[in-house]
Amino acid sequence: MNRWRGISLWMDGAGDMTPRPALAGDITVDIAIIGAGYTGLWTAYYLKTRAPGLNIAVLEAETAGYGASGRNGGWVMGAVLGEDRMVGHLPEPRRRESWGLLHGIPDEVGRVTQAEGMDCDFRKGGTLYCAARYPEQETRLRNWLKALHAEGQTEADARWLNPAELTQELRIPRALGAVYTPHCATIQPAKLVRGLADAVARLGVKIYEQSRVTGWAPGEVRTAQGVVQADWVVPAVEGYAGELPPLGDYQLPVQSMLIATEPLPEDVWAGIGLARGQSFSEFSRQVTYGQRTADNRLAFGARGGYRFGGKLRTDFTLTAAEEGLRRYLLGEIFPQLKGVEITHRWGGNLGMSRRFQPHMLLDSKNRIAISGGYGGEGVGASNLGGRTLADLILGRDSLETRQPWVMKDKTMQQALRKWEPEPLRWLGYNAIITSFVHEDKVLANKHAAPWRRRMARALAERMQGLMQG
Ligand SMILES: Cc1cc2nc3c(=O)[nH]c(=O)nc-3n(C[C@H](O)[C@H](O)[C@H](O)COP(=O)(O)OP(=O)(O)OC[C@H]3O[C@@H](n4cnc5c(N)ncnc54)[C@H](O)[C@@H]3O)c2cc1C
Repeated sequence: MNRWRGISLWMDGAGDMTPRPALAGDITVDIAIIGAGYTGLWTAYYLKTRAPGLNIAVLEAETAGYGASGRNGGWVMGAVLGEDRMVGHLPEPRRRESWGLLHGIPDEVGRVTQAEGMDCDFRKGGTLYCAARYPEQETRLRNWLKALHAEGQTEADARWLNPAELTQELRIPRALGAVYTPHCATIQPAKLVRGLADAVARLGVKIYEQSRVTGWAPGEVRTAQGVVQADWVVPAVEGYAGELPPLGDYQLPVQSMLIATEPLPEDVWAGIGLARGQSFSEFSRQVTYGQRTADNRLAFGARGGYRFGGKLRTDFTLTAAEEGLRRYLLGEIFPQLKGVEITHRWGGNLGMSRRFQPHMLLDSKNRIAISGGYGGEGVGASNLGGRTLADLILGRDSLETRQPWVMKDKTMQQALRKWEPEPLRWLGYNAIITSFVHEDKVLANKHAAPWRRRMARALAERMQGLMQG
């Protein structure tokens, strides 16, 4: 078996995995992109479609989709992490423009997949943020919806579904309601990244696989097989930033894990719903989410992890405890799936910026362009990142380049905020996650006294505030 197939359910079902040839010798190009995930490939795609004469090389350590792009939950969100902090306070009409740009991401991904003939199971069914397990989730959700509307989003963008309305979309026995937004699509992630690599290669971009970059500097990218001289360098390694100093100071690897059930029969799906490509999430502070796959499995992800020193995790054989936690949450939300067979379990490294929001950056002095720090919301954001970097490199002024997450005319060091040194990061992460886990445990216990519930919630809220401060 090809070793990359075992990476995830998605890579297992993404067709031919024969690698493209590695770099063999020194070359000179206009643009060198490090990493063949969504960010690197979308950037190459928009650059090459807008300026066909450009000579672009993509250098990938393994194969296209080896990173988070071949492993994620498959939500293409019309949103970016921390958007409320970045967009909410903008004056009209800039705020309306930004929401429009973000909400349009799934349609843009759908447009390109259709235009390029990429079959990646794209379905735009929206998403359901559910109060699935305890009453405090309803309160938080209603407050969140109120805030979204106060920040300029409308009922057409996000609206409340009462339990009866939710039942039309998704049936969760104890659900108290949900926020529904139409601005989300689901995909088969690996088919998207592999299809994108094929599309980019057809346009004339050279993708070198099994070509790990061992060092980089302005204008130069080094591998064991050769050196690439480039006018612009685009490091697009997200959760792998620690491997290419100094990027790791700004993007930390965080681990996220999923399980997938066997294909479920129609009668089981009749009891669950999700008939038209909707994704769903349970509204606890540590995200729990899923989608119904095109072959009728439930792909289900929950919670994450951080390793001391920002160490990458490469082996995602889930421990019994890791799988058990995800099985438990799956059974809590869908009791009928308690004994179901789990056929796949996997995980990946995603990249988190210190501001907990993405950055799209042009460092003209050093001729570096970077898009990243998406957290767990990078499938759609990386498409926006690719469009934005293409415009920034080509010197175009566009709606994409005028957004609050875009940084121009600053060096990377000036524009981005550094993560604290260890052991502060490790201690901070654990304190925050412990408070979130404690809150979830207390609130899920229907016998917990009201004062315990209030305290658990207040502590978790305070820790969340500190994290974003
Ligand atoms: C388990 C999981 C679930 C997720 N679910 C969702 C979701 O449902 N929705 C959502 O919006 N986001 C989700 N995300 C986040 C999303 O997948 C990522 O933000 C996105 O895929 C990032 O794409 P990227 O191209 O920037 O990085 P990656 O896909 O990680 O690509 C980086 C590439 O760089 C290569 N590379 C690394 N180092 C080197 C080197 N030295 N030389 C050459 N190449 C190198 C890697 O091999 C890799 O292929 C999830 C992430 C994970 C891990």
